[in-house]
Amino acid sequence: MSEYQIETKCIQSGWHPRRGEPRVLPIYQSTTFKYDTSDQMGRLFDLEDSGYFYTRLQNPTNDAVAEKICELEGGVAAMLTSSGQAANYYAVFNICEAGDHMICSSAVYGGTFNLFSATVKKQGIDCTFIDPDASAEEIAAAFRPNTKVLFAETVANPALVVLDIEKFANVAHEHGVPLIVDNTFPTPINCRPIEWGADIVTHSTTKYMDGHAMCVGGCIVDSGNFDWDKYADKFPGLTQPDPTYHGIVYTEKFGKGAYITKATAQIMRDLGSIQSPQNAFLLNVGLETLHLRVARHCENAAKVAEFLDGNDKVAWVNYAGLPENKYHVLAQKYMPNGTCGVISFGLKGGREVSVGFMDKLKLIAIVTHVADARTCVLHPASHTHRQMTEEQLKEAGVAPDLIRLSVGIENAGDIIADLAQALETI
Ligand SMILES: *Cc1c(COP(=O)(O)O)cnc(C)c1O
Repeated sequence: MSEYQIETKCIQSGWHPRRGEPRVLPIYQSTTFKYDTSDQMGRLFDLEDSGYFYTRLQNPTNDAVAEKICELEGGVAAMLTSSGQAANYYAVFNICEAGDHMICSSAVYGGTFNLFSATVKKQGIDCTFIDPDASAEEIAAAFRPNTKVLFAETVANPALVVLDIEKFANVAHEHGVPLIVDNTFPTPINCRPIEWGADIVTHSTTKYMDGHAMCVGGCIVDSGNFDWDKYADKFPGLTQPDPTYHGIVYTEKFGKGAYITKATAQIMRDLGSIQSPQNAFLLNVGLETLHLRVARHCENAAKVAEFLDGNDKVAWVNYAGLPENKYHVLAQKYMPNGTCGVISFGLKGGREVSVGFMDKLKLIAIVTHVADARTCVLHPASHTHRQMTEEQLKEAGVAPDLIRLSVGIENAGDIIADLAQALETI
């Protein structure tokens, strides 16, 4: 499939029916898979043969969808998870353990910030947060001998900071560490971080990939490019025998598939955040139109950003598509077809006025969601980020008056008219 363009991959990758099999990806709604002999099944448990035996580890519907996302991102292996949170946790926990250290951009999704600042900390993994605009020297200064991961978002939710992927990848590689990038907002339609040096890409498939706000889900894609054996003592989980699989060494046995095989055979086996096959089926339906929807989201968002930018009740607009935006140049380099459909802005009068304005919207709904077909708004300081202190909000790039507007794929004129009538009321 790799010879096809990305639009074709959205439709055709993943499920390849053979003679007489269903044309459309079936839902393998089964927890278990049947074998003829005890020995056949035993070989699967030893990772000697590949095959399905229990859906917590692998399921054909999930695998077909993971393969499609893998091909869209240009990776070598991928796995689905039950949520974006699980994807980011597994991506890190697969190569970090108690006593290790990681570095993360401070401009990340609120849930990711909580995960790395509090929950993984309780498991003995320390995380240093750095400015997403830090220079190579400043990023390098955060590294310690026990640092195992550098983590960032390509377009940060909700700060809309565009990541200088090459700079982050270079510093990570100079320190013998992989760069993990959460590519939820641009999706592989607008940006493929592996082409710029990222080693592992994660997704909350809940957003544009599903696209219809139907299923919470996540995905991890491995580029296969990071040389774990070169830094073998840093990554013993991949390069030393795994006693829970009869002493298998993942890099020896699975080569470029080592990272995802370990994440599946060990982390998913033990922690179990699998995506349901039913949700994977719906995700696949979303993926079939991803290229059409993402383009329309960006087209509509550009019109809405221009409208807000020209309205005198609006204090500021943050959208990398606007030429005066701080991240416009980086966005042109990494995602020339557009960043995403999410815009943030604030109103003159500050926090109170911003909140009051949201209550006046009619078509546009207040929901804890982003990046689906329906236009919606959220006030991060009152909602997703409400546990943060003023200082933490500032570091995360979330102004107290910031309204996050996720522009959908309705008629752009209708979206703008709704914003205009609500602006009239203030
Ligand atoms: C939503 C989101 C997540 C978390 O994903 P869930 O599917 O809600 O668990 C992680 N990263 C980003 C960038 C997100 O937008």
